[in-house]
Amino acid sequence: MKKIEKHDQDVIRLHNKQMILEIIKKRRPISRAEITKITKLSPTSVGRIVGELCEQGLVRETALTSVGVGRKAIMLDIDPQAVFTFGVDIGKKVIKFGVMEFSGKLLHEERVEHTALKATPEATAALISETINVIIANKKLDKSRIIGIGIGVPGVIDHDRGIVQYSSTLGWRNIPFAQFIQDKLHILTVIDNDLKVKILAEYLLGSAQGSRKTALIELGTGVGSSLIIDGDIFRGGSNSAGELGHTTLDPNGNMCECGKRGCLQTYIDESAILHEANRIKETADMQQLFAAAQNEENWAQDIISRTSLYIGITINNIVCMYNPDAVILCGDLVENYSEIVPLIEEQCGQVVWEPFRDTFKILTSELKSKSIVVGAAMLVMNNYVDKS
Ligand SMILES: [Zn+2]
Repeated sequence: MKKIEKHDQDVIRLHNKQMILEIIKKRRPISRAEITKITKLSPTSVGRIVGELCEQGLVRETALTSVGVGRKAIMLDIDPQAVFTFGVDIGKKVIKFGVMEFSGKLLHEERVEHTALKATPEATAALISETINVIIANKKLDKSRIIGIGIGVPGVIDHDRGIVQYSSTLGWRNIPFAQFIQDKLHILTVIDNDLKVKILAEYLLGSAQGSRKTALIELGTGVGSSLIIDGDIFRGGSNSAGELGHTTLDPNGNMCECGKRGCLQTYIDESAILHEANRIKETADMQQLFAAAQNEENWAQDIISRTSLYIGITINNIVCMYNPDAVILCGDLVENYSEIVPLIEEQCGQVVWEPFRDTFKILTSELKSKSIVVGAAMLVMNNYVDKS
């Protein structure tokens, strides 16, 4: 019991420290008194945490600034370029890179085409390392200030050991990918599941700022989810929590690629939706389906309405299980065809169990295609604040 209490205290202390650092980053320069006002923490706690941040060299005191008649306060500031991190997003066809400065701003972004399933893990590691080296050289980054590389990978990821356990998108099994990069660049590298870093990005810098318990649902070529509670990414026992796409909707339903029947993704992922559409009319892509619906073609409207219903049911399940205060909808389906969002909200009005109806907000991603790069870079930044 004692151990749990101790752990909770440590978590709260760390969150308060991260929160104060984020406030200083956003509103710099700022005084201790203003931080106390914003955080509602005691002046003693604020003083102690600020002291720690100064000692670590993350925050510095600047000149006195007058804050009213005859009163002067010492202001707190950061050096925005004190340290840098890299965020990397390995997708099916594109690898995205971002350089983040200490303030949280992305200094530089880059995209490199690749074909995930054709490349070996070694070749992908070489491509990423070369690209990072080129960025370091072109942007004249001081290598001693680069504190780490964060990589978001689709699949089941052993975050602690840096291993890609299974990724159907990449076709990899048991690959110590973080070590591959570290061996080449000699920079600390961490990897994590793409949706887990995505929710971190939205929580810290995107649409879920201010939310305490946030769930994210990814809807597109695959279906997945993640959860963040008071700043902690919920990982489950093997960092696999959130494999929403393979929750069973109907034991006699459609066959799924995983070998089971009736998985949720066989109803709402892109290929399932297109499969359904093609029973009626040749439909090459989602754009054609949404165009047909816009054109008042009943069959297309019906498919989109049914998809919205299933997504509404999924939101109900998540809300009943975790009681989040916000649900972020993201992925190609909602980002490319935002007209589906009001339909989903309408369905939620029907299918979400009454006691939960007004307990959460439905949000869309603010960082969109940048979210994995941002979250991966923040993952390293947070670890640094935590451990330094
Ligand atoms: Zn399945």
